[in-house]
Amino acid sequence: MLDPLTLRVAMTAVAATLLVLSYTGVYLRHRSRFAAWWSAALIAVAASTTLYLFNGSEAQTFSVPIANALGVLGAVCTWAAARSLRGRATGWGPVLVGPAATMLVTQLDSPTTDTWAGGAAFLTAMAVYFGLAAHAMREVRIEHRDSSGRYSSASADRATTVLGTTVGALSAVYALRAALFVSVGPDARLFETLVGTVPVTIALIVALVVVTFTMTELSQAERVFDLELRATRDSLTRLWNRAEFVRRAALRVAQRNELTAIVVADLDHFKALNDAHGHAAGDRALAAFGAAVRHALGPRDLAGRLGGEEFALLIATSDVGTARARVEALRLEYTVATSDQDATPTVSCGVAFASAREPLSEALQRADAAMYQAKREGRDRVVVDSVA
Ligand code: GH3
Ligand code: MG
Ligand code: MG
Repeated sequence: MLDPLTLRVAMTAVAATLLVLSYTGVYLRHRSRFAAWWSAALIAVAASTTLYLFNGSEAQTFSVPIANALGVLGAVCTWAAARSLRGRATGWGPVLVGPAATMLVTQLDSPTTDTWAGGAAFLTAMAVYFGLAAHAMREVRIEHRDSSGRYSSASADRATTVLGTTVGALSAVYALRAALFVSVGPDARLFETLVGTVPVTIALIVALVVVTFTMTELSQAERVFDLELRATRDSLTRLWNRAEFVRRAALRVAQRNELTAIVVADLDHFKALNDAHGHAAGDRALAAFGAAVRHALGPRDLAGRLGGEEFALLIATSDVGTARARVEALRLEYTVATSDQDATPTVSCGVAFASAREPLSEALQRADAAMYQAKREGRDRVVVDSVA
């Protein structure tokens, strides 16, 4: 028969090892809030388990209430970690209320004579906070399903599923413990064999390893997502960069069996704006144009910054009138949105139509030529490629 004491020593050793690994391997490298909360949870679990080693000694009057509170703190930190994945911060109040209440209830019970003092409150609090953590993980998955968010990749989805299932299972174990504690008591055979210290400590060791391992995987997925974002987005306008626009537009054109409008837009006399009002004013004008473009974009359209003050759009239409109307609407939107700024450049646009039968670069070149024709004709206008 395994004895609780040995198992608790083993669990403390495992928690301490995992703490070092996740703190140095994940937290110090990525500085994610999730890793910080998980490190805190491991500290709480290791400290709590260590304090239970004083069971049976005179110190248990104080060690049991503190150990119970630290155990609950571990579950609370797991919940806060899950919340941080949804961008939610968790303040000191919500973090400390559960552990403080558990400590108080345990102290008011009889910790001097009973190592299970405050047991019902402790077990219920564990079930509740692990349950909240499982719920938060579920929300993360729902929010990121079918989106292109931070946790939408296959590996992130697998990680959040494993994390949610693990903490959900822990919640169920503690709910069962609480129910049996109240109905048959902790000394009953049923309680000991099913949810006593020995089986639960083994389950906790497994859960700690699974969560730490999965969290590492999740941090990796976060990292890949952030790097991909940096490699594909223009940070000033938040539109795709040139390479990503061309890649996506070529795919989109190839998928459609009709012509697709490609627009090249260039801000007019931009150098003069920079010279007169400064580079920062120029940047503001560019960011405002990016915002107007994003706003004007339909769900099947694309937009990118080709470089400098030059942009490209894919408008999912084969109709000249529709394409022209959409571009005019964008130009109007930009003028209105920037009417309060001291300098608003006008925009010259060229429109051409791309087909799947030619490389996208040819349509881009025609749109560019049309844009230059708009410049020659006096700027602040839209010219449609004559072939269309
Ligand atoms: P045109 O009407 O013929 O297009 O004239 P233009 O002045 O807009 O065109 P030109 O190509 O002569 O100048 C483009 C200017 O855009 C020059 C460059 O300093 C400025 N520019 C390029 N990228 C940025 C940027 O990121 N921020 C700012 N503020 N200016 C930029
Ligand atoms: Mg220009
Ligand atoms: Mg230019």
